[in-house]
Amino acid sequence: MTIARVALPVAAHTAFDYWVPAGLEVGCGQMVRVHLGRRALAGVVVAIGEATEVAGDKLQPVREVIAALPPLPPDVLAMAEFVARYYQEPLGLVLAQMLPPLSAALPRSPVAVAAVALTAEGRAALPLRVARAPRARALLERLQATDGATLGADAIAALTPRARALLRAWLTHGWVAPAIADPMPALPLPPLNADQQTAAAAVVAALSSFAPFLLQGVTGSGKTEVYLAAAAAAIAAGGQVLLLVPEINLTPQLAQRIAAALPGRRTVLLHSRLAGGERRRAWAAAAAGDADLVLGTRLAVFTPLPRLALIVVDEEQDASFKQQDGVRYHGRDVAIWRARQRGVPIVLGSATPSLETLAQAQRGRYGWLKLPRRAVLPAVLPALRFEPGRDPGAVEGLGTALLAAIEARLARGEQALIFINRRGYSPSLLCSACGWQAGCPRCSARLVVHRNDRELRCHHCGHAERLTRACPDCGNVDLMPLGHGTQRLEGALAARFPDARIVRIDRDSTQRKGAFVAMRESVHAGEVDILVGTQMLAKGHDFPRLTLVGVLGADNALYSADFRATERLAALLFQVAGRAGRALLPGEVIVQTDFPAHPLYRALAAHDYDSFAATLLAERRLTGLPPFGHLALLAAEARDRGDVDAFLAAARAAADAVALAAALAVDVYPPVPAGLARRAGLERGQVLVQSAARGPLQRFLPAWREALERLPGRRVRWALDVDPAGFS
Ligand SMILES: [Zn+2]
Ligand SMILES: [Zn+2]
Repeated sequence: MTIARVALPVAAHTAFDYWVPAGLEVGCGQMVRVHLGRRALAGVVVAIGEATEVAGDKLQPVREVIAALPPLPPDVLAMAEFVARYYQEPLGLVLAQMLPPLSAALPRSPVAVAAVALTAEGRAALPLRVARAPRARALLERLQATDGATLGADAIAALTPRARALLRAWLTHGWVAPAIADPMPALPLPPLNADQQTAAAAVVAALSSFAPFLLQGVTGSGKTEVYLAAAAAAIAAGGQVLLLVPEINLTPQLAQRIAAALPGRRTVLLHSRLAGGERRRAWAAAAAGDADLVLGTRLAVFTPLPRLALIVVDEEQDASFKQQDGVRYHGRDVAIWRARQRGVPIVLGSATPSLETLAQAQRGRYGWLKLPRRAVLPAVLPALRFEPGRDPGAVEGLGTALLAAIEARLARGEQALIFINRRGYSPSLLCSACGWQAGCPRCSARLVVHRNDRELRCHHCGHAERLTRACPDCGNVDLMPLGHGTQRLEGALAARFPDARIVRIDRDSTQRKGAFVAMRESVHAGEVDILVGTQMLAKGHDFPRLTLVGVLGADNALYSADFRATERLAALLFQVAGRAGRALLPGEVIVQTDFPAHPLYRALAAHDYDSFAATLLAERRLTGLPPFGHLALLAAEARDRGDVDAFLAAARAAADAVALAAALAVDVYPPVPAGLARRAGLERGQVLVQSAARGPLQRFLPAWREALERLPGRRVRWALDVDPAGFS
């Protein structure tokens, strides 16, 4: 009897055996439907055998082979096994994470699709089917006539309703699939400068072997052109390219540049906000070797790519590559593993590389490519000034120097950006009479004032309540919003500069689909004078008339308990500062701070990220923190603090026992409450494990996890986080 071992999306570190009915074609990597108890589940076959330990009467059959997706190739299965092993996650959950949703709804109307292209199936099936249907034939000819067999959004909008319905049907059949087309005329790319040429040549020379590169380039140095030159060479040689980006907000701009650089090549998008059907088709196109380039967020790292030739991770330092819930993997680190497994080069691009990557480059393990000069005008980096935020003329935290600088920009018809990494009106509400502060009833956190919506909101659990007029403790009606958020600055600027056109860009103002793109376009079109926003504004957006950047409230993050906070702040500030003066106009950056002598600010003024990174690396070396040590964090939460404490105490004892028994050099720290000790009504705590080398930690973790699974603590929810992004 043939036995299929199936990994199922359940929290169990084991696969399940099923017998294969005659006539069912089942191989490794195939998706199947089975029953676990009475639950019907979809899983992936990870092994085929003849024997099982399951008793005959308990053994169930494979119910169905899911043919909608091709079987996972062996290299992708191996990647899933690596992720499961390294991050201590059940294989079935890892696989479920990697696959596009199966019960995918039909695609939304093609109006929502930016562009479509013929798929290989479409090219094979359609010519026969449309032979006797003149309208369908016309549509097919239209598709075939376009460059890369892609029909752009404008062209789709111009179709007759009947043709659009036909296109929708073809989408459903998978004969056409969402694709990227250049909605604007493709601009010829600027020729590469000498630095860019050297960098691209180094990557191209390494094609067809594992070679990791750090591509470090100051803002505006043209890293993207290097990616695209290397991608063009890889594709021309018959390969596929995987391009990972931190945020899907950045993809429209990037997609345009890809279309211009790779005419006639097929690019597909893969990210979690795609409708299920779109995601499945993009995935299938990549898996079939049909797509030349996959552009996506961290989950795209798992896409099957039979002809993979090059991986690029843009903004490799970005925290969003680390998934913080479910399967806690790091997209960049999995990408590096995959490049090694497939024997292809990987380019990690950044203006402010992560300390992990920088250390590897310094040790000579990664090729280190540098773009020290701006490729765009002006060639000079913006001038930086430090100003105190608290001066007598300050208006709502905006100091006199900054206000004067904004006024000068308005007079010249240039744009100013005010950056504060805090949304809402003010981060807290205080009673000046008795000292009461509005707190979240479910978290150990203050409620944020959202005055536009007359609400107090918790940014940790989503709790919202009406903005109170009077102090609940003493009845005082003179409540004070304390501190500044984007809404408050927006209001202050509007009052001070009544004629200026102001736009606020943060998570609240961009919730509506398409809002962010519309705002960005109006900034580009010169319809905005002042932008106020959070870190959403920091990345990758080139605003040609922006000549002033004001930074507020950065001091708050300087002295955080999280070991990665300063590294992140540095990356953010270098990015924000790099926004000033992108085209022909020189830029200026004003940082309001009470600590202008802090090493971070001095490095920022000198445009010298490396010197600050060296300071941070020296600190990390002293404390044995990454990249000089390796961490795993056990986080636990429960309604009752006593349950959390008891579980973590037992977990620590188990850890000590495991380390002692195997003589492993790992340090187990005592349990501590999490930075946010209570969230959404749950008490939270953690135990940190640290090791100077990865090997002992990786040998320690499976035994510890098994011990944790045996601990009593049904009321406790826990998770292991390997290489945590920080201590939350
Ligand atoms: Zn009060
Ligand atoms: Zn809360």
